[in-house]
Amino acid sequence: MEKIKLKPCPFCGKHVEIYTVGNILTKSRSAVIKCKYCNVTCEVAAIKFTTDWCRAKVIEKWNFRCVEVKLKDENERLKDLLEEVLLIYGNGFANLKQRYLVIRIKAIIEERK
Ligand SMILES: [Zn+2]
Repeated sequence: MEKIKLKPCPFCGKHVEIYTVGNILTKSRSAVIKCKYCNVTCEVAAIKFTTDWCRAKVIEKWNFRCVEVKLKDENERLKDLLEEVLLIYGNGFANLKQRYLVIRIKAIIEERK
């Protein structure tokens, strides 16, 4: 199986731990990723699949969530920045090009709401 690198915690940036619960003899199995600094966890459990399967799935889920959190944060910062630009220049743009820019910024902010 290809080894996929586990991303650090999206909230604090620290290294996270992964562990599995159960084995081939237990009724259910799971894999958990946990950040011991902010207690964020991510879990995948299964009845029909092995702990290796759970492990691969939880890494996939965790890494996807990390990207989502990062994008959401980036989005928020861009939205704040655009709103700031509008506050400063919203009424002061004189030429057509600048007014067009304001309209485009307003449209982006609307889309992101
Ligand atoms: Zn953390």
